[in-house]
Amino acid sequence: MNIGQEILQLLKEEITEVEYNRYIKQLSYDPKKSTSDLAIFYAPNALVLNWIKSKYTEKISHLFEVKTGDRVSVKIALKNQLDKRKIKQKTEQKTIHSLLNPSHTFDNFMVGGSNQFAYAAVKSVSEKAGILYNPLFIYGGVGLGKTHLMQAAGNVFQNQGKNVIYTTVEQFLNDFIRHVRNKTMERFQEKYRKCDVLLIDDIQFLSNKEGIQEEFFHTFEALKGVGKQIILTADKHPKKIAGLEKRLQSRFEHGLVADIQPPELETKIAIIEKKCEINKVKLNKEIVNYIATVIESNVREIEGILSKLHAYSQLMHVEITIEFTKNVLKDQLQENRANLTLDTITQSVAKDLNIKPSEIRSKGRSKNLVYARRIAIYLCRELTQNTMPQLAQYFGMKDHTAISHTLKKINELIQNDEDFKVKIEELTNKISSSS
Ligand code: ADP
Ligand code: MG
Repeated sequence: MNIGQEILQLLKEEITEVEYNRYIKQLSYDPKKSTSDLAIFYAPNALVLNWIKSKYTEKISHLFEVKTGDRVSVKIALKNQLDKRKIKQKTEQKTIHSLLNPSHTFDNFMVGGSNQFAYAAVKSVSEKAGILYNPLFIYGGVGLGKTHLMQAAGNVFQNQGKNVIYTTVEQFLNDFIRHVRNKTMERFQEKYRKCDVLLIDDIQFLSNKEGIQEEFFHTFEALKGVGKQIILTADKHPKKIAGLEKRLQSRFEHGLVADIQPPELETKIAIIEKKCEINKVKLNKEIVNYIATVIESNVREIEGILSKLHAYSQLMHVEITIEFTKNVLKDQLQENRANLTLDTITQSVAKDLNIKPSEIRSKGRSKNLVYARRIAIYLCRELTQNTMPQLAQYFGMKDHTAISHTLKKINELIQNDEDFKVKIEELTNKISSSS
């Protein structure tokens, strides 16, 4: 089944049988002429054509996006009457393949000590594409504004009429697979190598995927070779991304690597105030401060809370007071953590430290296993309601005193070792926001 047929099958599930049989069934997809951003279907007659055009094109396009991650414009033509010239034009226009969020701008980005280096780097790149730092590599924890910053530069470039591609590794990979399958690799290469600016988000997902790393390497070289700007983000420094080819790693470090740290209190306050302004939510100073203190670092959580506060106060016709905020936040924090289990936490820790979950729970005494086990125990204690005897049983330890000893050790480390503290915060952040 080709992608067009797959999409029609998906559509079939959403509409009535009569509609399907009368109209959609008569459509046929053209895999040869379609591209990653243009899908061409043929209808047998004008009646069917007009009906489908008016009722289903948006839906079909939406299904393509859900399935492939690409914005696809859908063209329905009469069988045998397709104007080839027009399609060519359309394809050329549509190479501006962009899912940039227009509110991700520099103006909307609040700068503080934690992110000023990354901000300055992206800002200067946006003023001198391809000349200053190429590639620019931004890394940091979840919800700290990497995508926002990268897209802020993207928006600047796009407003200058540049051809900007913003994509995640996952979409890039899907696109790649589809072109391989359809034997249209030249189109894939043309698309990515012809753009002026390439923004790739969450590059850590290239990890251990050799085929796509190879392809990405060539895309990278082609763009870099002609001075096209590349901006990448990841959750860690290129050196720390396991399963990444050496040549990619060294290229990623070749331009500028900038990190984003969790925001300090003042930055969090500024961000909350900005989001309130954008979303037209009114909060007094006390409430803003309260939210800023309770939310550790993930800015995305702040947005969730604001929209919840706003929605509740509208629905219940009440003003947003501090008590009301406390209640909403309590729910939110519990909700975030309710799905966390000992297994999910152990798996996350194992993944982050590159060992097997079963090893964490084993009796192994090597230094890195003990280290990982201690962290896992600490996080399980912090993020779930399990008792110490339950934890002892899960981690195969003698009894609860072993657990309490571990917790004491970790707390000491957190107090005395700033790097370790940051590491624990990052992990907590990552685990809480993945649930
Ligand atoms: P990341 O890509 O690092 O996971 P995002 O860029 O998606 O994080 O940011 C999550 C949300 O937080 C976005 O809505 C973004 O606008 C907001 N955000 C993060 N940092 C800031 C900041 N410094 N100022 C304003 N908004 C921010
Ligand atoms: Mg992101």
